[in-house]
This record gives sequence, structure tokens and C-alpha cells, in this order.
Amino acid sequence: MSTSTDILAAIHFASGKHRTGRRKNKAKTPYINHPIAVAHHLATVAGVSDSATLIAAVLHDTIEDTETTREELDATFGVEIRQLVEEVTDDKELDKEVRKQRQIEHAPELSYRAKLIKLADLTCNLTDVLDDHPSSWSNERRMEYLEWTEQVIAGCRRTNEKLEQDYDRLVARGRKLLSG
Ligand code: NDP
Ligand code: ZN
Repeated sequence: MSTSTDILAAIHFASGKHRTGRRKNKAKTPYINHPIAVAHHLATVAGVSDSATLIAAVLHDTIEDTETTREELDATFGVEIRQLVEEVTDDKELDKEVRKQRQIEHAPELSYRAKLIKLADLTCNLTDVLDDHPSSWSNERRMEYLEWTEQVIAGCRRTNEKLEQDYDRLVARGRKLLSG
């Protein structure tokens, strides 16, 4: 299969898995918009063309948020992609606060490709928290989210200058927006 066919296969697979999922914004946008945005961000901001990274970005929330199993990803996309997806997958058996702390602690141990995906994922999520946030979230909660992303991203530095600069601009805008 060609690279573009592989990426389309991942989009097709993820759109089926996330078909009933919705984002937490007011309009309840279909969930699949988010993983597509993460892959798009990697390609356009960082110039990533490595197909494993783009495919894993599209699939990054399938194990965490849908019924998808690791075996299914192994069989459909191979072990390399499954391992990348697992690297950026939280253990949902753990309490949320523990999971969030683990993300901070484990970020420096992620592989290069997983750090790229984490940078793009948190940039896309922080963009949503600033511009299209869950309606129940106060400014204080949005700021707490921003500050949590800063701690995770601290462990992903020196990976891709363009992604990091883009993230830093977003944080500066967010701090202004949320404190104003
Ligand atoms: P959540 O983990 O509940 O929500 C954020 C996650 O939801 C994102 O990382 C993203 O993950 C997903 N998501 C889906 N739709 C959106 C959207 N429109 N905008 C942003 N994210 C979306 O948030 P937290 O628990 O981290 O809450 C933020 C901060 O507020 C924390 O620091 C927490 O301590 C504090 N707080 C939390 C409360 C709680 O009840 N949890 C209550 C009060 C404060 P994905 O990439 O997987 O889609
Ligand atoms: Zn995500």
C-alpha cells in the first residue's frame, strides 16, 4: 500500500471507531475532527511526512476512547503503529488525577515520534480549551488545563522547534485571554 492509502485507511478506521463520539464543546463536534486535526497539525506546522507518525496521530485516541484493542491495531496497522498509539494512551483503570500526573512524569521517556504526537495533541486540545471549550468550564479550570499542558510539554522539549514555538505562542495567547 502507498503512504496516502495507509493514511486514508487509518482515517477510515478511526472514523468508524469514533462514530458515536463527540467532543466536549458546545456544538458537540464529531470526535474524529480532533485526531484529524492532530495529524494535520503535524503535517502543516512541523512538516512531518513520516507515515507512521501521521497514522498513529489519526489513531491516537482509539484505544483510550473506543472499544479498539491493541490486537486489532496490530492486525490492521502492524506492531510499530500499535506501540506508538500505546505510548500516547492513558490507562483508564487509574484515577484521572493519577493519569494526569503520569503524563507529566512519562513525557520525557516517550520516543521521538510519540513526543511529536503529544505536542500536536496538547496544542490541538489547548486550542479547543481557548476557542471552543466545554461550556461548563470556568476560566479558572481552563487556566488549570493550560498549566497542566505546560508541565507535560516541558518533558517533550527539544523535539521539534516549529511545534514548540507554535505551542508557546498559543500559551501566551491563552494566558492573555484567560486572565483578561
Ligand atoms: P478533562 O480531562 O476532563 O478534559 C480535557 C480532555 O478532554 C482533553 O485533554 C481532550 O482529550 C478532551 N476534550 C474533548 N473535547 C474537548 C474540548 N472541546 N476542549 C478541550 N478538551 C476536549 O479535563 P481536566 O480534568 O484536565 O480539567 C482541566 C483542569 O481543571 C485540570 O487541571 C483539573 O485539575 C481542573 N479541574 C477538573 C475538574 C474535574 O472534574 N475533572 C473540576 C475542576 C477543575 P483527548 O485528546 O483525549 O480528546
Ligand atoms: Zn487527543
